[in-house]
Amino acid sequence: MNEDRIKKLDAIRPMISNTPLLEIEYKYKGRRRVIFAKAEYYNLTGSLKDRVAYHILRNAYERNRIKPEDVIVEATSGNTGISFCALGRLLGHKVVIYMPDWMTQERINIMTSFGAQVITVSRDEGGFLGAIKKTEDIGRAGGVFLPRQFSNEENTEAHYLTTGVEITEQLASIGRVADCVVAGVGTGGTIMGVGKRLKEANPNCKIYPLEPLNSPTLSTGYKIGMHRIYGISDEFIPPILKMDQTDDIVSVDDGDAIAMARMISETLGIGVGVSSGANFLGCVMAQDKLGDDSTVVTVFADDNKKYLSTDYAKDMTQLNGYISKDVELVGVRAYR
Ligand code: PMP
Repeated sequence: MNEDRIKKLDAIRPMISNTPLLEIEYKYKGRRRVIFAKAEYYNLTGSLKDRVAYHILRNAYERNRIKPEDVIVEATSGNTGISFCALGRLLGHKVVIYMPDWMTQERINIMTSFGAQVITVSRDEGGFLGAIKKTEDIGRAGGVFLPRQFSNEENTEAHYLTTGVEITEQLASIGRVADCVVAGVGTGGTIMGVGKRLKEANPNCKIYPLEPLNSPTLSTGYKIGMHRIYGISDEFIPPILKMDQTDDIVSVDDGDAIAMARMISETLGIGVGVSSGANFLGCVMAQDKLGDDSTVVTVFADDNKKYLSTDYAKDMTQLNGYISKDVELVGVRAYR
C-alpha cells in the first residue's frame, strides 16, 4: 500500500521544485545592482510549500509514520495548508486545516476547492498558537497525521535538499556564489535550509532572516503589533528557526512590501505576492551592507493571486521613508 502512495508522489515530482532563478536588475539611489530570486510560484500549487509537503509526506510513507486512512491536520497561514490539501487529496487523505481568521479569503477558497475542511481561529481563540494547539489536541485522539511544519526539521531539510541545491547550481552556472540569503520567516524552514546549503558553497555566506518592521517578533522575542505580509511572522519564534545560526535580522515595513510587490508586477510583469516584495527590499538592505556587487539571493514565495482581496490590489502609496521609493527596476532574466 505504501509503495502505491510513494509511486503516486514520485509521478508528480516533476511538478515540484526546479523553479526558475530570476536575476533582477535595479537601481537604488542611482546605483546599478542585481539580486536573485527563486520564482517559487512555479511549484504545483503555486508556492514554496509544495517542496515541504512533498518531503514530509514521502518520508512519512517511507518510514510508516502515516496510514492511508489518516486525516492530515495542520495549522497554517495558508500556503502549507494548500500544499497538503493538494498532495493529501492525491493520496486519498481527508485534510483538515486550522488557520487564523485574518488570512486572505482566497486561501480559504482554494483549500475548500481541494475538498479540505478549513477551520478559522480568531485572536480570542488564541490565533496562530491556538490553531497549533487545536491540531495537537485532535492528534491525541489517533487516526491523525500531524505534519507540524513549525517544529518538524523535515521542513528545513526540504529546502536544504532542493531549494538550496538549485540556487547553488543556478548561480554556479553564471559563475556566481551566494554572499547572502534573505528570507521572510514564517516557520523559518526556508532561511534555515537554504542558508545551510549556501554556507557549504561559501562559509562566509550571510543568513538574514526577515520580519515585518510593524511586527518585530524575531527582534523582541514575543508577539507584537500587526502587519500585512501574509505568510511571515506568525506571532512566535518557531522551534526550527535557530537564531544563533543566523546573522542580522532585516526588518521591512508592510506598506513598503506591498508597494514593492506591486512595482515588480507593474514594471516587470512578474506578479508576486506581498512577502516577495518584502524579500526584494530585504535584498536591497543586504546589499547596502555587503556592497553593490554582492550576490544576494531570496525567494519569491508565491504569486499575486492570493492577495487580490487585500490592500495589494488597492494600495500602492509610497510613503516618505519607504525603501521602494528609491528603487528603479531595470529588467529581469530567468535561469532554469
Ligand atoms: N512567504 C509566504 C507567502 C509564505 O506562505 C511563507 C510560509 N508560511 C513564507 C513566506 C515563509 O516561509 P517559511 O515558512 O519557510 O519561513
